[in-house]
Amino acid sequence: MPLQVNLRLLERIPQKLVGELPVVEFAADFHDEVVRFTKPLQYDLEVIRQGLDILVQGTLSIVLECSCARCLSSFETQLEIEDFSAFVPLEGEDAVPKDGDFADLTPLVREDTFLALPTKPLCRPECRGLPVKAPSRDSRLGATPSEVTSTSPWAALEKLKL
Ligand SMILES: [Zn+2]
Repeated sequence: MPLQVNLRLLERIPQKLVGELPVVEFAADFHDEVVRFTKPLQYDLEVIRQGLDILVQGTLSIVLECSCARCLSSFETQLEIEDFSAFVPLEGEDAVPKDGDFADLTPLVREDTFLALPTKPLCRPECRGLPVKAPSRDSRLGATPSEVTSTSPWAALEKLKL
């Protein structure tokens, strides 16, 4: 089911829309290297008619599956759009798509959700990326701990921070 509002009811009273929008309805052809949609979009919206326009306000929330931009590991993160707001005309070129008495709000939430996606998601803020390639076992056997740390490029960075 797409995200629709009944325009006949909307003529009389504001409409509350709460529910889930399946991935196939809003992101079926979405492809991205670092973000994937695997769970439905949760919406909690109020729609008001204002003359020849409708105002849609509320919150959107979705769990995303991301690939860390530094270490490439997969992780889930919650995307919250707490102040979603869209003002669209009912008629004319920019009108909201209509099907009989219903207006389809799916394109509105899709646009804002896509705009809010992380472009460089990190599994955790301090992620340092892929582990430094460890020296082979044999060469490490004779190394003292201090020699091992000094070969790490991060050791130099740690010293700079101090
Ligand atoms: Zn990471």
